[in-house]
Amino acid sequence: MLVAQLRDQLVDALYAQRRADYTCPACHQRVGLRHGTRVQPYFAHRPQSSCSILGEGETAQHITGKRQLAAFFADGGVVTLEHVLPQIQQRADCWVARSDRPPLALEFQCSPIATQQVWSRTRGYQRLGVYPLWILGSRYGRQKLGWSLIERFALPLRGWGLCLLFWDVRRQRLRIDHHLYQDALGNYHGRTTWLVNLAGLIAGYQQPLPQVVLNYPVWRARLARDLHLKAPAIMAVQEQLYPLGHHLLHIPAVLATTAQTVPLFGQGLLMWRVLVAARLFALSTSKVTVATVNRLATSSFDVVGGHLQAVGVTATRSLEIAKRQLMADLVNQGYLRAMTDGWVICRPLRWLDED
Ligand SMILES: [Zn+2]
Repeated sequence: MLVAQLRDQLVDALYAQRRADYTCPACHQRVGLRHGTRVQPYFAHRPQSSCSILGEGETAQHITGKRQLAAFFADGGVVTLEHVLPQIQQRADCWVARSDRPPLALEFQCSPIATQQVWSRTRGYQRLGVYPLWILGSRYGRQKLGWSLIERFALPLRGWGLCLLFWDVRRQRLRIDHHLYQDALGNYHGRTTWLVNLAGLIAGYQQPLPQVVLNYPVWRARLARDLHLKAPAIMAVQEQLYPLGHHLLHIPAVLATTAQTVPLFGQGLLMWRVLVAARLFALSTSKVTVATVNRLATSSFDVVGGHLQAVGVTATRSLEIAKRQLMADLVNQGYLRAMTDGWVICRPLRWLDED
């Protein structure tokens, strides 16, 4: 904790004298001033105290980073450290009050945190009309881009698409992993940009995004290996296909796609298309209603490990586009005919082993 209360004043630990009557601005219990050789001064609750809005334990990274972030965001508005919001029992590491837009609440997250806790803190800020920014410490900066980070911390930022933000205390720079998405084979992608000031963040990403080339041979080799090893995520899909007489290694060519999705698609868009199509062409009727497609789309999304929402993004729109594109592809290739109230199956879907 960098800020404590002394009578009705807030005092920054950097300028605090050694004295006994500092209190926590949230719970009003006594706190003590601490100095370390490698840690800047900070305030600490007594070991037995139970603060109602206790933040994460103060490591050197967290203490230094909070101050650096306050400096980084200083041009964005009036910045205060450790802003207490008693109505939602939360304390933002940094608070940026902006004249023309809602305030920003910065959470500099260095320690482990459960998804549920990120949800509740994010929703708490949103209820107050505050925009939360999760900024991650070195523990997270070392992690591979994937669902674990995206589920909790990905958020959309103007000019950057879906992002993860990291603060590097040593370099005093903001790392932004932006334009996050999944390719059709389920691989996660994003661009990494380092920013030295807030102006760069506000400006957005100015360069063209590269085209991603799908590597089907690598994907097929991995798929074959995962099937051989009976990897649970792949087996969940394959076990749906066995009763229909199909195999994942014999995917119909019409289902291949280079489309991208939000990074909530689990095993990826291609697997999802395969499952929806396999079930669609196994229906006992040749007439396909919109309701049927919706049902197959949702249940298949579940089987391929898709997530309808993460803390900062939902799959709703991406799933809707995927549905529309799949049906359009099947119509264009002559497998389906569009009707006013649905589709009619014109010919069976040809899998690669069925010649
Ligand atoms: Zn307290």
